[in-house]
Amino acid sequence: MSDSPANPIQDLLVFGEFGDVNPSVTDSTTYTFLTPEKMEAAFSTEMEGCFLYSRHWNPTNKYLCRALAGMEGTESAQVTASGMSAIASTLLQLCRAGDEIIASRTIYGGTYALLRNFLPRLGIAVRFVNVNDARALAAAVTPRTRVLYTESMSNPLLEVADLGALATFAHGHGLKLVVDNTFTPMMLAPARFGADVVIHSLTKYVNGTSDAIAGAICASKAFVGELVDVNSGACMLMGPVLDSLRAAGILKNLHSLHIRMRQHSKNALALAEHLRARNLKVHYPGLAEHPQHALLARDGNAAIGFGGMLTLDAGDEARARQLMTVMQEELVGYLAVSLGYFKTLFSAPGHSTASEIPIEEQRAMGLTEGLIRFSVGLDDDMARTLARVDKSLQRCGL
Ligand code: PLP
Repeated sequence: MSDSPANPIQDLLVFGEFGDVNPSVTDSTTYTFLTPEKMEAAFSTEMEGCFLYSRHWNPTNKYLCRALAGMEGTESAQVTASGMSAIASTLLQLCRAGDEIIASRTIYGGTYALLRNFLPRLGIAVRFVNVNDARALAAAVTPRTRVLYTESMSNPLLEVADLGALATFAHGHGLKLVVDNTFTPMMLAPARFGADVVIHSLTKYVNGTSDAIAGAICASKAFVGELVDVNSGACMLMGPVLDSLRAAGILKNLHSLHIRMRQHSKNALALAEHLRARNLKVHYPGLAEHPQHALLARDGNAAIGFGGMLTLDAGDEARARQLMTVMQEELVGYLAVSLGYFKTLFSAPGHSTASEIPIEEQRAMGLTEGLIRFSVGLDDDMARTLARVDKSLQRCGL
């Protein structure tokens, strides 16, 4: 990666109306115009510094959009009320009845349910494949395919997508490559490998404080323009607008994302190595034995590391439940879904965030019943955390 994705954020110059170091927060839904003609023009064209109605654009959200576009290296961005609404708006903008989507088989359960259960109701068919299997991809494409959808690092199996290869494949078949980069902000920059749309659940690492649900769509100016078109834009017409007070908070947190990601990565590597040394079944992209370790080392931002997510197979469901309960008692972290929080969070995806995926499919993709997913926190003293992990393992006979 040539330029640090933190630089465009660091270089943002936005002041409040009194020279405040943070931009003023838009606390209005509507904006005045000097003349009716100007108002009419605002309906059809985007005018710099001119706002119409906050579901369309608002200044605070625009600041956050600019920072996110800078981080992802895209021309533009749109923020939304959730990661799910970012995904749904993007796919509904790109596809219509009769179209098809090829999607990675290992994705967040909510996205899986949207693709598997909801989009077919609108006449959009979805084929799930292992996106790192070139033959499976080639077999899934049809003249009706419009989109190739993947996560940069998959939830919960932590498979890393070969973004360059996927972009080549997608563009060779006239498809748009849509990448959910929620697990790897600042680590992977999908647009630099050719992704057409990069999505985030800002709820996770980007915000980092588990106090806001939000999403983002980073893409070309033209595509973002389509999303907010007053006649046909999925964001404008379905209206998943992010509240500007939340946008202001997320923008402030975004400025420390590179530091947090480094610490998440450092701590996750320490936990992964510790669990591996105990011969436990740990899966972490920073370990040499991870199937895409070399790929992530090649494509990722070396300054950040391999991310804050890891999985541990506790053997069976009962053992996984016991270990999570005990780890919470021993103050390793919280038994909770979600990720990217400053404290360690753990959950069993098969019974929570991936429970929408039928059991047979979970097993086929390697999601075992004893799998625990960790989002490793920002602990300063990892030696103390590892001692607590050891005590928890010991209490569970592991
Ligand atoms: N994408 C991924 C990879 C996720 O893990 C999640 C939520 O867990 C989402 C999207 C959905 O985001 P949100 O909860 O902000 O709607």
